[in-house]
Amino acid sequence: MIPALMPNYNRADLAFERGEGAWLYTVDGRRFLDFGSGIATSSVGHNNPHLVDAITQQAQRVMHVSNLYRVPQAERLAARLVANSFADTAFFCNSGAEANEGMIKMIRRAQAKSGHPERTRIICFNGAFHGRTLATLSATGNPKYLDGFGPRVEGFDHVPLNNMNAVRDVITAETAGIMVEPVQGESGINAATPRFMQELRAACDEYGLFLGVDEVQSGMGRSGRLFAYEWSDITPDILSTAKGIAGGFPMGAVLTTETIARHMTPGSHGTTFGGSPLACAAANAVLDILLAPGFLADVRDRAAQLDAGFDRLVATHPDIFTGRRGLGLLIGLKCKADVATVQNAALAEGMLSVTAGDNVLRMLPPLTVTEADCTDALSMLDRAAQRVRAHLAATAKPENVA
Ligand SMILES: *Cc1c(COP(=O)(O)O)cnc(C)c1O
Repeated sequence: MIPALMPNYNRADLAFERGEGAWLYTVDGRRFLDFGSGIATSSVGHNNPHLVDAITQQAQRVMHVSNLYRVPQAERLAARLVANSFADTAFFCNSGAEANEGMIKMIRRAQAKSGHPERTRIICFNGAFHGRTLATLSATGNPKYLDGFGPRVEGFDHVPLNNMNAVRDVITAETAGIMVEPVQGESGINAATPRFMQELRAACDEYGLFLGVDEVQSGMGRSGRLFAYEWSDITPDILSTAKGIAGGFPMGAVLTTETIARHMTPGSHGTTFGGSPLACAAANAVLDILLAPGFLADVRDRAAQLDAGFDRLVATHPDIFTGRRGLGLLIGLKCKADVATVQNAALAEGMLSVTAGDNVLRMLPPLTVTEADCTDALSMLDRAAQRVRAHLAATAKPENVA
């Protein structure tokens, strides 16, 4: 019989009852170092006192009022995001996919309302992940995720990442914009090069297209800057973000320019839950932490510590790992051994991680991870590599046996 909880996930047999910083504790008392952060979401760690306080106090006042009324917490959050990014204005919603839906709609609407209703198509990249709604699945383009879900939503063209000729080849009179992850998360931590980002910006300027960046995973400090686009010295026209924005409380956001947003008149787009006092109180508390002097520099220090450690691991265990990728605390270790085996070995050593495409082990510690936590993570992975080697030796088929 089907379980009461729909079985649409491959869940590990672990149930956590509480967390503290980068550590999670199971109901049966084991502790794990959380280098997955609930998929880049528990950005300020578990049981962060500042975040817990903000949520508790707001919950006691008022959680939800709807967007029929002013929401001061949302006004403050928007002003702070605008002050710290390229954007002039912000829209709040509840998830990454919903932020990307908003981004796609805003790109189309701005083209349509500024004299180009024929410009509806958006250029996306092979290996992208933009979400699980019908439109964002089509933007994702991965046939595995589309299987059985009926006709694709029209209007998305896919080309290889970091290949500017391929991009220019698909631009037509119907192209409205480009949607790119500065670092592709799901498909294996593949970064767009700064040069490619600059060339995308130039092509958008040349053809009158809007440049949209999907920073659902790479945004809100994950890359060591508030947004990953900052590493390539460009400004996008529109940006989606979600995952870490409210430290684990569900929230998404679209940041954009006045040029695009002036077409989003009352009634053009909306959400019941989006930008509630509770969600915005949580996100403001996360921003307090992210924008505190020195915080993002600390994130970059932790990233440098881990990068150096992962490079040593690759050098020590070339039979298990073949290389390191990523930006900031969005880290991929390309595995030679099967990534699921490596992930299980890391779990056996007490460390949680996430897999990504291309046989990559994905590590996304909370941005508040300590130096000691990172040292622990590196020794756990070192022991995990030895475990994998022993496992492979024990299960190896004897070769060339006559
Ligand atoms: C996770 C993710 C999404 C989808 O976010 P949901 O909150 O799961 O809808 C979209 N884009 C990127 C880059 C992501 O990593």
